[in-house]
Amino acid sequence: MTILVLNCGSSSIKADVFQSSTLQRLQSFRVERVGTEPCVLKEADIETRLGDVGHAEAIKSILNKIEEPIEAIGHRVVHGGERFVHPTRITTGVLEDLQNLVELAPLHLPANIAGVEVCREHHPTVLQVAVFDTAFHATLPRRAKTYAIDQEIAVRHGIRRFGFHGTSHKWSAQQVALTMQVPLEELRIVVCHLGNGASVCAVENGRSIETSMGMTPLEGLVMGTRVGDIDAGALIALAQKEGWSLEELDLFLNKECGLKGLSGVGNDMRDILERSAEGDDKCRLAINVFVHRLRKYIGSYAAVMGGIDALVFTGGIGENSNVIRSRTCQNLGFLGLRLDADANSERPSTSKTVVEVSHYASRNKIFAVRADEEMMIAKDTQALFNELDTVVRPMGIPIAISARHLHLTQEAVEVLFGKGATLTVKAPISQPGQFACNEKVDLVGPKRTIKGVRVIGPVRPACQVEVSRTDEYTLGIDAPIRNSGDVRNSPGIKLVGPAGELTLTEGLICARRHIHMDPDSAKAFGVQDKDVVEVAIDGAGRDLIFGDVLVRVSPRYVLEMHIDTDEANAAELRRGDVGILQASSFQATLRSKKV
Ligand code: ADP
Repeated sequence: MTILVLNCGSSSIKADVFQSSTLQRLQSFRVERVGTEPCVLKEADIETRLGDVGHAEAIKSILNKIEEPIEAIGHRVVHGGERFVHPTRITTGVLEDLQNLVELAPLHLPANIAGVEVCREHHPTVLQVAVFDTAFHATLPRRAKTYAIDQEIAVRHGIRRFGFHGTSHKWSAQQVALTMQVPLEELRIVVCHLGNGASVCAVENGRSIETSMGMTPLEGLVMGTRVGDIDAGALIALAQKEGWSLEELDLFLNKECGLKGLSGVGNDMRDILERSAEGDDKCRLAINVFVHRLRKYIGSYAAVMGGIDALVFTGGIGENSNVIRSRTCQNLGFLGLRLDADANSERPSTSKTVVEVSHYASRNKIFAVRADEEMMIAKDTQALFNELDTVVRPMGIPIAISARHLHLTQEAVEVLFGKGATLTVKAPISQPGQFACNEKVDLVGPKRTIKGVRVIGPVRPACQVEVSRTDEYTLGIDAPIRNSGDVRNSPGIKLVGPAGELTLTEGLICARRHIHMDPDSAKAFGVQDKDVVEVAIDGAGRDLIFGDVLVRVSPRYVLEMHIDTDEANAAELRRGDVGILQASSFQATLRSKKV
């Protein structure tokens, strides 16, 4: 079994598959330029052309290439707002809450959510976990997360510092503590995550207490294309003098500044270093500003923590650029930090996650750590899976909502739709061999008529009309709750088709809620054909436990619970939702009786 970690960015997708107990990395996929240009799916050295596809198609291609069954899926989610401060199991309610957070991270959250939706659709029974970039910074003290504005206004508009890159900061801090063989709870660490986006974090006793990104990822260090810290007065002047709208200003600050804006040659630090070595003055200035800002942060975070035990470099620049590390560490001797030039020429790798680059005489340590947010997300997902496993095993059952429909015999088809008529396929439905038909009939009750009720094919040996309780009130007929196929002594009803009418003497039922199961699923759930069980729905504010759910086992079935529209509405259910069979290793809440 495996854990899939999905990092779905606005134009790229990273997906890593881990063995679920050892967390050994089994497969690794990368897709770039999603939705903008023809894109290519890379797995190791193999490239597959995907063409002009969006996130959904690209993720489906990845899912199809995963070789072992997936037990849980961990999603990187950029922003968790005030609410999500721990890895969280994704339910329909959680997904709705995430959608409400989109305005906090409009560039990133929609892609994260798209990833979750595609995985839920394709693996509805698999545990899905959201791991938030902001969560590690939930421990920021009030003084660090507060901007100096009227707090009534701040609270009204959610203006506060959140911090990002939390998964990377947490991973680096943990790796360094392991290497130093000192409990994380006893260390003061400054982590510099220097990638395209860049941030610094002060990790005191294992908790983030200061970080350079703020309400958005725009604050702090000089980044690839983001400006980082800038006087708010300069923004006002820029907008006034250039005549920019807020959208134009936003685009400028996020996409045209930072290393790109300063150097004039783009955002890639390798190019900038190369040109700077050749004497390009703009590139030299870009590096000087980048390093100066970083040193300011390191010094101030050491001040905030009253000292520093370890300084850590991570991210594309932090791991790979010995020049940036050495420039940053110049004159940090007053913090007990002294770089070793030889050690600093090494870089971390998959086989060596942590490289110590400090001199043997350095009082405190300096490290380069290979960023591995995917591994951290896999660990968090594994932990949540194991936690749930000990309480209630999350055996999800996809739920299908059956609208009113009817099954007909061939004779009835010919009466209603004309001599020689046959049922025609509109679309297949989830249970193998069954389909929604183009044909519809009207149900005529003593009270009212329900028009346009769809026939489900193929034809059956007996007619059966399945309606909800609300429909019964509309029709004015009291029908019994029955298992499908059991229409003995049920009320009849008049059917009106385009070619004729037919009055059934029996056949109107309110279908009993039931679960279709293949034998393997039945074995996994520990139930048998005709068992009656309870199913809990983790709904959007209307959680509900359905009792009296009949289990029907057959190799012809696909795992799915069927309920009618009244039942679905009572639990605020939507297509694609999942119910949990009430069974756990400690608590025997599975109530099962033979019927
Ligand atoms: P992201 O934040 O998009 O995940 P990365 O962590 O991969 O980005 O970092 C990308 C940055 O790392 C780029 O600026 C790139 O130039 C830089 N980088 C990669 N390798 C080196 C290197 N050998 N020397 C300097 N910078 C490097």
